[in-house]
Amino acid sequence: MSLVSRDPILLTPGPLTTSLSTKTAMLRDWGSWDASFNAITAEVRKQLLDIANAHENHVCVPMQGSGTFSIEAAVNTLLPRDGHMLVLINGAYGKRMAKLVQMMGRKVSVFETPEDIPTTAADVERLLSGDRSITHVGLIHCETSTGILNPLAEIADIVARHRRSLIIDAMSSFGALAVDAAKVPFDALIAASGKCIEGPPGMGFVLVRKSVLEKAAGNSTSLSLDLYDQWSYMEKTTQWRFTPPTHIVAAFHQALMQFVAEGGQPARLARYQKNYEALMTGMDELGLKSFLDPKIQAPIIVTIHAPDSGNYEFKRFYNQVRDKGFVLYPGKLTQAETFRVGCIGAIGADEMRQAVHAIADALREMGITTKGTREKRLASELAVNTA
Ligand SMILES: *Cc1c(COP(=O)(O)O)cnc(C)c1O
Repeated sequence: MSLVSRDPILLTPGPLTTSLSTKTAMLRDWGSWDASFNAITAEVRKQLLDIANAHENHVCVPMQGSGTFSIEAAVNTLLPRDGHMLVLINGAYGKRMAKLVQMMGRKVSVFETPEDIPTTAADVERLLSGDRSITHVGLIHCETSTGILNPLAEIADIVARHRRSLIIDAMSSFGALAVDAAKVPFDALIAASGKCIEGPPGMGFVLVRKSVLEKAAGNSTSLSLDLYDQWSYMEKTTQWRFTPPTHIVAAFHQALMQFVAEGGQPARLARYQKNYEALMTGMDELGLKSFLDPKIQAPIIVTIHAPDSGNYEFKRFYNQVRDKGFVLYPGKLTQAETFRVGCIGAIGADEMRQAVHAIADALREMGITTKGTREKRLASELAVNTA
């Protein structure tokens, strides 16, 4: 174990490293009836609509729990009991969405592409033309199991042209990648506090088309995961329907203010892009390759092929890197040994370069020769020979 008692830097898809002011916003207790707490909830809902330019046709409904709770609430509330949802899958989160639709007893069809192949608008066009019974389409914007980006705007266009309803899991992209509700038609977009807005984990939210939500009373088969009831209660009382995650809401509000102060989504994306580039420069120097083609890679989380060495073992590698202050994430692929590195959270390119050093040192300690060490050795041999 490291002797350093600092918090490690989390290079994961969430929970993420948060800023000190976000953490300190959690040091106060709030009553759920307190008008000042309910004003914070109202402000958070407004700030989230701002990010997607969604004030005109959408409302924001926050929900207790991790991100999946909000997906489940959105689907259970918006998909009528006789609805039929098509889920577009290229990773674990797509599979999870299909599973929760099936478990709530609604009809689900899936379209699955390999983990390194985005779903295309042409696929969706063909699928919707071929099956008129499909009422809803579920799409994962950035599929965090690899970091692959699916073409949201193109798919949203097709779904709208076919007059079906689009439900987007934008969990790992919201705040970092632009989504403009005035240009990209959707009925629901779901994300959570502990991802690119850099709040603590514990609440999710759904940006949902108001005219659709208004007609969704009674659809949900779940008491707590009923987006309509959550919304109508909040509209009536300004309060959360059940116990709110008060500290999380307050810290999320603080994180949203920092998001705005930083320059909003374009600035957030620019910082993550620099983190991504610092990471890839470092991986390149070590001779480690990313799994995805850079053209379909979002600068959010990167899947990297493990070094081709008998000495490599993820658990040991993870522990070595963690002891140097950085938390990595295991790969989620069945076909190849990989690990993942998140580019998101309250970190910059300097931290990413330090992480690269930690990775290089860990590999060296494990007796794994990397391209960098080979090159250094060659260079020093050359220097000796010419001396
Ligand atoms: C993080 C994430 C979720 C939600 O996962 P939870 O563990 O429930 O927070 C859903 N979809 C995607 C794409 C994610 O990255």
